[in-house]
Amino acid sequence: MIRLHRVTKYFGDFRALSEVSLDVKAGQKVVILGPSGSGKSTLLRTINRLESINAGTIHIDGRNLYGEGEDINRIRMEVGMVFQNFNLFRHKTVLENLTLAPIKLKKMKREQAETLAMALLDKVGMRDRAAHFPVQLSGGQQQRVAIARALAMEPKIMLFDEPTSALDPEMTSEVLAVMMRLASEGMTMVVVTHEMGFAREVADTVVFMDAGAIVEASSPHRFFTSPENPRTRNFLKQTL
Ligand code: ADP
Ligand code: MG
Repeated sequence: MIRLHRVTKYFGDFRALSEVSLDVKAGQKVVILGPSGSGKSTLLRTINRLESINAGTIHIDGRNLYGEGEDINRIRMEVGMVFQNFNLFRHKTVLENLTLAPIKLKKMKREQAETLAMALLDKVGMRDRAAHFPVQLSGGQQQRVAIARALAMEPKIMLFDEPTSALDPEMTSEVLAVMMRLASEGMTMVVVTHEMGFAREVADTVVFMDAGAIVEASSPHRFFTSPENPRTRNFLKQTL
């Protein structure tokens, strides 16, 4: 579903990604760990073409994301993204946040978009907040709306960039519960997080990044019990 082959990305002279290769099959869940500044967000952003790349290739569902003549909007519709700071449209209601893109980009009829939106809000436990504005919601509620909004485009892949980092523990668990449910329904997911419990329970593969490179990629069991790379071991010692 996602195939990165030797992807390199520079910001000026600074190499943010160094020949990163990664394969994610349909339905797989990959959790990306790593210290701040290691390139995790940049990696996710290349998968959604929010960043350009300098070398390498990225294929999404068999299509070359950076290939000439590719319909980027179409590929992008297949990849939903959830950010640390929710990024909801502040002057739109919860319902409008969910219906905007499907109506505009997918040309969905309003009634159909609203039906879908209400079903998704129900799924994330936010149906009764459809008429609220983001500012009237807690951080955890806003993030659950943000997840529902991404799902409203019916993506094949969901990318999460530290979705619970701005939340207190209680709100974190309500967001993680929504993500776990999505995982159990078979969604292909790439999740950058510091939630080790989530990594252990949900990930098929745990990837450790450092200095723009993938240093280690293995099953959660192996990753947490016998990490091979010294930098991974050091990271785990500091965070567990
Ligand atoms: P992480 O998400 O792992 O904390 P990032 O992917 O955000 O790391 O950043 C990786 C490196 O790239 C950092 O050193 C960061 O300062 C740099 N970087 C990220 N975005 C930009 C940008 N738009 N311009 C210049 N440098 C950037
Ligand atoms: Mg980041």
